[in-house]
Amino acid sequence: MTRRIIVIGGGWAGLAAAATAASNGAEVVLLEARRELGGRARTEAVDGFMFNQGAHALYAGFEGMRVLRGLGIEPKGNKPPLKGYGRLRGKVGLMPGTPLDSIRSPMIGLGAKVQLGKLLANPKKVLRTEMIGRSMQQWIEEQVSNADARLILAMVARTATYQDDLNSVAACVGVPQTIGALTDGVLYLDGGWQQIVNALRNIATEAGVKIDTDAKVESLNDIDDCDAVIIASGGPSHAAKLLGNRSTLVGEWAAAAQPVYASSLDLGLRSLPVPQRRFCLGVDSPLYFSTHTPSAKLAPDGCELVHVLRYGDAPGDPRAEMDELLDDAQPGWQEQVLAERYGKRWLVAHDRPTPEQGPLTNRPGPAIPDCDNVFVAGDWVGAHGLLGDAALASGRDAALAALTLM
Ligand SMILES: Cc1cc2nc3c(=O)[nH]c(=O)nc-3n(C[C@H](O)[C@H](O)[C@H](O)COP(=O)(O)OP(=O)(O)OC[C@H]3O[C@@H](n4cnc5c(N)ncnc54)[C@H](O)[C@@H]3O)c2cc1C
Repeated sequence: MTRRIIVIGGGWAGLAAAATAASNGAEVVLLEARRELGGRARTEAVDGFMFNQGAHALYAGFEGMRVLRGLGIEPKGNKPPLKGYGRLRGKVGLMPGTPLDSIRSPMIGLGAKVQLGKLLANPKKVLRTEMIGRSMQQWIEEQVSNADARLILAMVARTATYQDDLNSVAACVGVPQTIGALTDGVLYLDGGWQQIVNALRNIATEAGVKIDTDAKVESLNDIDDCDAVIIASGGPSHAAKLLGNRSTLVGEWAAAAQPVYASSLDLGLRSLPVPQRRFCLGVDSPLYFSTHTPSAKLAPDGCELVHVLRYGDAPGDPRAEMDELLDDAQPGWQEQVLAERYGKRWLVAHDRPTPEQGPLTNRPGPAIPDCDNVFVAGDWVGAHGLLGDAALASGRDAALAALTLM
């Protein structure tokens, strides 16, 4: 008998779930509240610049890539060069990103270079260090004693995990994420993350998924008769609301969740005032600036697309801090602006992997133990990856779990 599955939400998680379920023979309906699919992976064209919802990079060696390739999708884009700059104590300098740059970098002293060099020379050895029960911050402090070496490690970990508060992140998750991001790199995608949204939608529709947009679900009571429902439309508190009194466990997951936020400034520039400084991170401040062109096709010919982030959700408006980083890294940038979008406190992930929770195998879902035939998917769910990787992997795994029913 054909299984009938309803997927709520048309972001990466819902699309991966729908494409996986339908490719395996299920009859699938996907319900999306908005007119467009993609959720936080949507890309918006502004005056010819393709703006993702803030800086988005696809981790080249993680689970999301395996999910996409499993569905026959080969993402198109390029890895940005490793060479980058950092800003420490108000000064911008070459970052010790590669062994040669490390020797040349004026940013940190010899003591910090030696400690970082020893630690990062052998990534496999790093993965054998003791991590269980520790936060990322504790782990960093155990590995290096030099204050600047600690700041550099925290900066790299922040960029790889999107987490501002490293005391609240499990080392056993954050360290492999950071080492994987450093060794395998990331991809900036041609046309933005919409490329993957479109590819997933095409695979889903070719496999027979019926997609209804402008179809907001308020409660599972509104759902037609089916064999399984996959909730891929929000975090645990949203799932708890849709479920009503069907599950108490999801309410507990919601109470424990610690969402991750960032503020984002997206810019289309005529050109970069300092062309060699394409990438600059705050070493002693949680700030990110990266030029996503020309690694990816995202701007009219010759123009540049820049993303600036302020990690975390500190009170107040971080816009001035972000402008300051740009002033230091790219003086005169304001005269080059052709397109601009700024957003405060964007939701990056519905939950973070805390030291108390431990490995990702302890994360909720996709199955809901006290509620049969309903599954969850999203960047807070399942045993694989963070952020977009978790969304894709939990979408796939929720579909596979729903298919084993009956
Ligand atoms: C600034 C920023 C930077 C990021 N950078 C990265 C990065 O570099 N790398 C990375 O891997 N990840 C990154 N992420 C995270 C990534 O965007 C998300 O993890 C991923 O897109 C989440 O996909 P999702 O399908 O789980 O959720 P969403 O994309 O939120 O999709 C949920 C969908 O459900 C729909 N919906 C909501 N309510 C209902 C309802 N009641 N009924 C029907 N439909 C509903 C929504 O409209 C939406 O389309 C970033 C996020 C942000 C905000």
